[in-house]
Amino acid sequence: MPTYEYQAVDVHGACERCRQPFEVRQSMRDEPLTWCPQCGGPVTRLISRCGISTAPSTRSLLSDKNLKAKGFTKLVNEGGGKFRKVT
Ligand SMILES: [Zn+2]
Repeated sequence: MPTYEYQAVDVHGACERCRQPFEVRQSMRDEPLTWCPQCGGPVTRLISRCGISTAPSTRSLLSDKNLKAKGFTKLVNEGGGKFRKVT
């Protein structure tokens, strides 16, 4: 079963359990926790460390639009020693 991380929405009013990220083992089908099991305060699910990251992916960093915005020139190798300028 995957482990999810939760943390209190308002860490100031949180108990010592949900003030810091805590892990809950849940089935994928289970509803995400919205309340701390200890103090009943609202909690939010954190993005799993091994799951999808919110950081920009290499793919979007290397997108034509981003390269152009950063002043890079992108060349596509068309084979036979020929390069086509994309941005
Ligand atoms: Zn709590």
